[in-house]
Amino acid sequence: MNRRTFNKLVSIIPLAGVTMSLTHLETILANNKNTELMPTIFVGHGNPMNAIEENKFTRGWQDTAAKIPTPQVIICISAHWETNGTFITAMDKPKTIHDFGGFPEALYKVQYPAPGSPSTANDIKKLLHGSKIGMDYDWGLDHGCWAPIMRMYPEANLPIIQISLDRSLDAQGHYEFAKQLQIYRNKGALIIGSGNLVHNLRLVAWDKMDEPDFGYDWAIEANTKMKKYISEGDTKSLINYRSQGKAFDLAIPTAEHYLPMLYVMGLQAKNETISFFNDKAQAGSLTMTSFIAGN
Ligand code: ZN
Repeated sequence: MNRRTFNKLVSIIPLAGVTMSLTHLETILANNKNTELMPTIFVGHGNPMNAIEENKFTRGWQDTAAKIPTPQVIICISAHWETNGTFITAMDKPKTIHDFGGFPEALYKVQYPAPGSPSTANDIKKLLHGSKIGMDYDWGLDHGCWAPIMRMYPEANLPIIQISLDRSLDAQGHYEFAKQLQIYRNKGALIIGSGNLVHNLRLVAWDKMDEPDFGYDWAIEANTKMKKYISEGDTKSLINYRSQGKAFDLAIPTAEHYLPMLYVMGLQAKNETISFFNDKAQAGSLTMTSFIAGN
């Protein structure tokens, strides 16, 4: 990396109020090649069966992957990995975790043998600042990551790193934390937040699972409002989701499926184009709405 490129990169890194010596930073960033700014994606993952079914959502994932540059590495923040502190998967071969119950045998047989990237994981650990940042050698890939990513990149040849959601952070904290990863968008990384904007499993209309685009009024209202805030870059309203009224309260009974979206918001550069896809409700109380920033 030449000095000019390095200075350009450094100028966009928010260091969360922490002073990091340039030499230290230059060493960290030397391991991954510089690239054009990669897009960043929020994926609504929904039903784990999407991993093996052919439907409009899986086609949406495939179409999105087909139109963006092939990443050197994928960094995924999934709703399904919450920890005390932040952990980064650092194994050579992350295992495929079947973290769900009551599904057909075929789904439990799915393996997604994408490699990890211990060297990049190690670099990310040095870059991040937070209350507790640790390496992980046990987790692997949960279905929030492997289900959509195996449809986007079926060859399983791109290294994947998962970063956990720190339970001790509030929405503002997650948003700020995400900014530290911005630099990796210029390092060939496709950073994916995987959750669901509207996700209330208690109110799922199981009998209407196959009715196309069925959403309760409150689910549609919350989803529409979220899309508006996302399009306008109104992160303040997105972060203050508990002050947005009844529809948001029903849409976000717990935060874990909503928070990965705040990572994608935190990763954005100014005035990036946002395109929505898979913008459909399912089974009343879920939405599959996904978006790509920067493409
Ligand atoms: Zn989920």
